[in-house]
Amino acid sequence: MKHLSEYRDFDATKKYLDEIHKITTREWNIMEICGGQTHSLVKNGILELLPEKVRMIHGPGCPVCVTPLNLIDKAIELLEKGVIVCSFGDMIRVPGSKKSLLEAKAVGGDLRILYSPLEAVSIAKENPDKEVVFFAVGFETTAPANALSVLHAEKEGLNNYTILASHVLVPPAMEAILDDKLCTIDAFLAAGHVCAIMGMQEYYPLVEKYKIPMVVTGFEPLDLVQGIYMAVKQLEEGIYKLENQYSRVVKEHGNEAAIAVIQKVFEVGAREWRGIGEIPNSGYVIKEAYRKYDAEAKFNISHIKVPENPNCIAGEILRGIKKPNQCDQFGKACKPANPLGAPMVSSEGACAAYYHFSTHLTA
Ligand code: SF4
Repeated sequence: MKHLSEYRDFDATKKYLDEIHKITTREWNIMEICGGQTHSLVKNGILELLPEKVRMIHGPGCPVCVTPLNLIDKAIELLEKGVIVCSFGDMIRVPGSKKSLLEAKAVGGDLRILYSPLEAVSIAKENPDKEVVFFAVGFETTAPANALSVLHAEKEGLNNYTILASHVLVPPAMEAILDDKLCTIDAFLAAGHVCAIMGMQEYYPLVEKYKIPMVVTGFEPLDLVQGIYMAVKQLEEGIYKLENQYSRVVKEHGNEAAIAVIQKVFEVGAREWRGIGEIPNSGYVIKEAYRKYDAEAKFNISHIKVPENPNCIAGEILRGIKKPNQCDQFGKACKPANPLGAPMVSSEGACAAYYHFSTHLTA
């Protein structure tokens, strides 16, 4: 398949690996932001093929993993009130404080697993006597479709459709990680799909402020190894700039139509991140003009607050302070079939990646 098979080509990937080995003279810590990048690195065995001195640190870019426990409890509360709750599949097995969405479904909750928020709008149209809520989690990548569902519901004149929104933004999370006194990161691989929506403009100020190399990078093995090579090259040369490895997808100003849809429905506000806490201006909240589509406001569930599971160190994993196999629960009390935290459930979670593909990796 064009644009896929060539980015999984072993010889081309090996050439960049050889170059990384050739130019690396000292230890570097590079964080890949996105959980999709983490999975590709682990699944394709790239971590073992890098020089020992190049250490990849796994970042917070898994939308399910950073969604706070509170939100899951709020979605469960809605199910228990008789609301039809619609969600992407990854979210349903993540444990809340007492149960998961799937367990709430097993005792009668009307939970629908969808691929698109627009399907939820159709469900609302077909069920005018029921309330329908879409559990709208994600980074900048899922925000346009979720915003579009609100605009679609408005166009259809629906009064029974709302979203339980928990959108988070990558640049403020990078800033919070870099401001952490435990941070040891020397360079970033920025998330290619986020930049495909938002463009690259937000990242130049971060590069300048923290004097740190950043490479916007894709997800296939060749993308990742080339992105790591570009980051190591900058580090070895003592320079810092923003580069775009994923130029076949990412344009300087992103997808302007998608950004316009986001900006019509959402505005930037504070968001709570699982295991990290509240980060100012780190997410999207629904604008006043569209407040009638905000499930938190409509169902009065904002007060629900629950503490995170004390045995799960997801916060340290998401900030890159620890690796999954440094968690005492990893592979013991916490497995994909019986997860203690979201990073063991999600298809982009670092703990699940280590469990499925690489339990032999050393810390
Ligand atoms: S292994 Fe399980 S308990 Fe440990 S951080 Fe990952 S999800 Fe949490």
